[in-house]
Amino acid sequence: MNVSTGKFFSARDLTKHFDGIRAVDSFSFDVAEGSITGIIGPNGAGKTTVFNVVTGIYRPTSGKVLFRGENITGLRPDRVVRKGIARTFQNIRLFNRRSCLDNVITPLFQRERCSFTGSLLGTPGARRLERALYERAFELLRALGLERFASMQASNLPYGLQRKLEIARALATEPTLLLLDEPAAGMNPEETRSLANLIAEVREKFRVTILLIEHHMDLVMNICSPIVVMNFGTLLARGTPDEVRSNPDVVAAYLGKGKDRR
Ligand code: ATP
Repeated sequence: MNVSTGKFFSARDLTKHFDGIRAVDSFSFDVAEGSITGIIGPNGAGKTTVFNVVTGIYRPTSGKVLFRGENITGLRPDRVVRKGIARTFQNIRLFNRRSCLDNVITPLFQRERCSFTGSLLGTPGARRLERALYERAFELLRALGLERFASMQASNLPYGLQRKLEIARALATEPTLLLLDEPAAGMNPEETRSLANLIAEVREKFRVTILLIEHHMDLVMNICSPIVVMNFGTLLARGTPDEVRSNPDVVAAYLGKGKDRR
């Protein structure tokens, strides 16, 4: 997928304060279409708060979120999804007691604004749609290497696979921008390498731009460019992996302190 230089996503002077805590403070950054952009920074730098503001979980104290030429600041989470932004969560949020297939098919049905019951009672057209949605759900599970777990209860999947299932579920909403919050959390180095390849494949296959938060520096340095560095809610640096790696401010604030949390 080619990286475009036109305006795709921008946060402008984004600010979110919580009772005197400046979690995000006049933070601006852009995401180019087709890129895998990384956000890094020490614990508490404000990374997840940025995701929460962008996806409508929090209203910003001030600032703007612009997506594909539209001001989407303060839209409700479901509206943000309809605009084409999907996300995964640092603390995995799945329908734990439902099957992997159900976890992926539910957003597909929601997207088509139809229900299981409605389609069961429905016309041949509705049944055809239902079949197509099941095929799509299997395709998504297959793309994430989860097809053989389709009927397994989500909570019984190993942790790393639950993170992949969250990605499949997010892709079911057909986003053009996918936000991944620490997708490699809890993974060992080999799993992290394989996830990095998978994320790059997902970008190509689903033609989706990716913005990811990660503490695993190997994953970030391998697949992200540019990398945006946050510290104390503000922009500390932005650049290619090499530029970020050799930036003394970044080294002092983050990399130098061995913050490669696993
Ligand atoms: P980590 O890498 O540890 O996940 P982060 O960079 O994602 O950290 P945030 O979770 O965005 O950081 O938190 C930024 C700051 O805002 C922290 O001081 C945090 O305690 C605070 N914060 C986040 N959410 C809330 C909230 N709902 N209420 C009050 N303070 C909050």
